[in-house]
Amino acid sequence: LREDPSFWMENNVQVVIRVRPLNNTEKNLCGYNRCLRQESAQSITWTGHPELCFKFDHVACESVNQEVLFRVAGLPMVENCMAGYNSCVFSYGQTGSGKTHTMLGEISELGVNPGPECGMIPRIFELLIARIREEEESRRDEKLKYNCKCSFLEIYNEQITDLVDPSSTNLLLREDTNVGAYVENLTEREVTSVGDILTLLTQSSVNRKVSATNMNSASSRSHTVFTCTIESRWEKDSICNSRFARLNLVDLAGSERQTASGAEVKTILAWKKGFECAAIQPCLLSWIVNFSLVITNLVDRTSGKKWHIPYRDSKLTFLLQDSLGGNSKTLIIANVSPSLCSSKETLSTLKFAQRAR
Ligand code: ADP
Ligand code: MG
Repeated sequence: LREDPSFWMENNVQVVIRVRPLNNTEKNLCGYNRCLRQESAQSITWTGHPELCFKFDHVACESVNQEVLFRVAGLPMVENCMAGYNSCVFSYGQTGSGKTHTMLGEISELGVNPGPECGMIPRIFELLIARIREEEESRRDEKLKYNCKCSFLEIYNEQITDLVDPSSTNLLLREDTNVGAYVENLTEREVTSVGDILTLLTQSSVNRKVSATNMNSASSRSHTVFTCTIESRWEKDSICNSRFARLNLVDLAGSERQTASGAEVKTILAWKKGFECAAIQPCLLSWIVNFSLVITNLVDRTSGKKWHIPYRDSKLTFLLQDSLGGNSKTLIIANVSPSLCSSKETLSTLKFAQRAR
């Protein structure tokens, strides 16, 4: 793995591939046969026919644990937030590829202190809170104060549920000239310690689980968005200054092909008209189409091409529009299985991630 804290200077969109270890089901079905071969810290080969080599900002193989992944990809995100950049981390991949493991990690380990299998979110906040304390301490003469507020929501079937208060469902997306896109009546909790965040995470994740058992495939079809707004105020030459940054940590729905509903097919057909270039298949879930277009267009835009970015076409991208593009930093962690059993899905994730780069 490449540990280079300055890599964000080069590009506002970073793509990391994370390969999870083979699981027992895969070993039983396909033995130790794999569809991937790592070439270097930045390249990986899909070993199908024909072999295809892909290059990314980082390739994290099975031996890369949660702590190392955090040091490489999460730590620079914290520094981005401290510097006032809006930032987004997306965990992408088929169901079972390790998206939640990467983002949240094992829930049983979200105790008072994050354990070794804790994922990106608890680690990011552990560092963020420590950095905030450090900054406040070192700039006492400027009366520097930070204020962090967190929210946690789920988007399922284009419906927004507040995971902090799950009785609050079907929330509405609004737009305001000052604050941008926001969810009306969403609970925002002020957090001042790692404990506050871990409590919020554990209590709210349980709410997600309940809905997942009620509707069997719900968890694979829902996105969760954990958002933290970080506001800082300080005085300099008797002038009050303030800065505002938003950090979004997104555990996406499964990227595997799922049958689209009637309404989704209609939306997709409408998009197809606007994007003659894209060979969009109606069997793809609409969010994947929209998300791919937004991410691909972000990259094209930074390289100078002019595109219409279809933020408005799904709740997910509408909500995150202020944190995507412009000066914002976007990190995509594409999770894949190395097993031959998942060869097709792994290839499709690699192709998506390639386009995002
Ligand atoms: P997804 O959210 O993409 O559906 P999960 O994160 O729930 O997938 O992962 C599926 C299973 O694989 C879980 O039991 C998880 O603990 C395990 N797993 C995923 N990634 C890793 C990894 N890097 N190391 C060890 N176990 C993993
Ligand atoms: Mg998951």
